[in-house]
Amino acid sequence: LIVLSGVNKWFGELHVLKDVNLSIGRGEVVVVIGPSGSGKSTLCRAINRLEPINSGEIVFDGTSLPAEGKPLARLRSEVGMVFQSFNLFAHKTILENVMLGPVKVRKEKAAAVRERAMGLLDRVGIAAQAEKYPAQLSGGQQQRAAIARALAMQPKAMLFDEPTSALDPEMVGEVLEVMTTLAGEGMTMVVVTHEMGFARHAANRVVFMADGLLVEEAAPAEFFANPRTDRAKDFLSKIL
Ligand code: ATP
Ligand code: MG
Repeated sequence: LIVLSGVNKWFGELHVLKDVNLSIGRGEVVVVIGPSGSGKSTLCRAINRLEPINSGEIVFDGTSLPAEGKPLARLRSEVGMVFQSFNLFAHKTILENVMLGPVKVRKEKAAAVRERAMGLLDRVGIAAQAEKYPAQLSGGQQQRAAIARALAMQPKAMLFDEPTSALDPEMVGEVLEVMTTLAGEGMTMVVVTHEMGFARHAANRVVFMADGLLVEEAAPAEFFANPRTDRAKDFLSKIL
């Protein structure tokens, strides 16, 4: 579904993505790990063109990623993104937040969107909070609302950039549970996370990045049991 070939990205003199090749199949769940500054967020942002790349190609669903215009808008709506900070609109209710994209961007009928949005809020376990404002919800509930909002656009793939890093520990589980369910339902997912439990249980593949390089990729069981490179061994020894 998503194919990156020879992708390079510089921030000025800083080479942050170095000839990255990565192919993500439909329904595949890929967890991206690596030290701070290794380029994980940049990789995610490059996939939906929040960050332009300097060379290489990113193909999404058979189409080479456009840099602008209508095709870009379509791509953005087909790739949902969830960040560390939930980025909900503070002055809109949870339900309004979830409905906004389909109604404003897609021009879908409000009644149909409302029904779908309520269904999604139910799925992530916060239907009872639909009429509340983001500040009235816990961090875990807000992040689940952000996931529902992304799903409301009926994306073909979801990108998660450290979705649980800003949460109090007791709320991490509820967000990972929603993500695990989504993975089990066959959603194509790219997940940057330090939650190795999630990587072990929900990922089809673990990708280890360091210094802008995609250093290793393997099935989780294999990666955790037998990291091939010293860099990966070193990283795992620090986080496990
Ligand atoms: P973390 O685990 O801390 O989130 P990361 O792996 O997500 O790190 P990136 O955010 O992708 O790393 O950053 C990769 C490198 O690019 C870092 O050295 C960072 O300082 C640099 N960088 C990121 N965004 C910009 C920017 N907008 N302008 C300049 N440099 C940037
Ligand atoms: Mg990051």
